[in-house]
Amino acid sequence: MNDKLSLIAQSFGSLRVKRDEPMALHTNNKIGGTADLYVETSTTSELVRVVRQCVELTLPFLVLGGATNVLVSDKGIRGVVIKNRAGSINIVGMKGKMVAGKKEIGDVLLEAESGTPIGHLVRFTIEEELAGLESFLGLPGTVGGAIYNNSHFQRHGKFIGDDIVQVKVQNEKGDEVVLPKSELEFDYDFSRFHHTHEVILSATFKLQKGDKAALWAKAQEASQTIRLKEQPYDIPSHGCTFQNLTKQEAVSLERPNLNQSAGALVDECGLKGACFGSAMISDKHANFIVNKGGAKASEVLAIMQTIRHKVHEQFGVFLKPEIFLLGEWTDEERLSVGAPKRGKNGKTDH
Ligand SMILES: Cc1cc2nc3c(=O)[nH]c(=O)nc-3n(C[C@H](O)[C@H](O)[C@H](O)COP(=O)(O)OP(=O)(O)OC[C@H]3O[C@@H](n4cnc5c(N)ncnc54)[C@H](O)[C@@H]3O)c2cc1C
Repeated sequence: MNDKLSLIAQSFGSLRVKRDEPMALHTNNKIGGTADLYVETSTTSELVRVVRQCVELTLPFLVLGGATNVLVSDKGIRGVVIKNRAGSINIVGMKGKMVAGKKEIGDVLLEAESGTPIGHLVRFTIEEELAGLESFLGLPGTVGGAIYNNSHFQRHGKFIGDDIVQVKVQNEKGDEVVLPKSELEFDYDFSRFHHTHEVILSATFKLQKGDKAALWAKAQEASQTIRLKEQPYDIPSHGCTFQNLTKQEAVSLERPNLNQSAGALVDECGLKGACFGSAMISDKHANFIVNKGGAKASEVLAIMQTIRHKVHEQFGVFLKPEIFLLGEWTDEERLSVGAPKRGKNGKTDH
């Protein structure tokens, strides 16, 4: 494998490629062992090129966006980790009609590269007076990561997949293909990308003309009033650790007001503030595990095991992880927190 890694390192140059790179330097929770090779790509053509090289050389690889939704093993990641920074946004089409001699714009099609930070995309759309994505102001990460798990803002009942028309991907053979929304299998915390090894290159959103002030007000409510007030943004974390309950589970558990929140269950088990080493269940939001400084992935795993065990003991339900366990984990470790067995390069197999 070393020779193959050297071929990639040579073609991207030493400034862009790092050997044995600590992933803790790049993950939002500041946790993770070393990646054999770490490459940052700044355009889609670079991303396509390095993925094609990995495919041709049969090297294991995985693509990361903001690394805000992952737990990388302390043993690290074998093969190539590609940090995707391709971030351009373009308006690619408009629909409208003539009213009293003036063109009234209806739907607008906008294409964003997969490495675009969600925050940039939301700000861009609001400034262009385009409605649809404003609930996602404050969502960390990139377009690619958000599509991978169909990121949501439940308070507004909104999923990133709602406004998507199509996604351009690089398939397992290294070819570029456009997939319509009907083939993306969007669901709660799910998309087809959980069971394919395709790389998301860009997404086309269909948005509507809106009122800029009203859009900013809705975005600020999501970002300031809800996220910043209720979630720990000032300390490293990977966001919500476990998925919320399904409606059916909330009904059968007779949750008050059919509350589906996984955090509420953890809170009711009295676990807020519980620590394992430097990993701690946030005392602000019980579904967040925060890194107080120098936490290990094994410590986060131990907390996840405790949460699952206690919640099951008290409520009879096994929580499923929302985060992705990447890198070298044993099947036993994965199953102990409800994660699917190991897929390609430590990715989940559903
Ligand atoms: C403070 C905080 C708050 C959060 N709030 C929310 C919230 O309200 N709602 C919510 O849904 N999530 C939330 N999250 C989780 C996370 O931010 C989102 O899910 C985000 O969209 C993940 O994007 P990312 O680019 O960081 O993905 P990453 O963490 O980089 O990757 C996640 C998965 O996607 C895959 N992936 C990434 N890019 C690509 C690509 N281009 N092609 C193929 N696969 C790819 C990765 O391999 C990995 O398996 C929060 C996280 C934090 C830290």
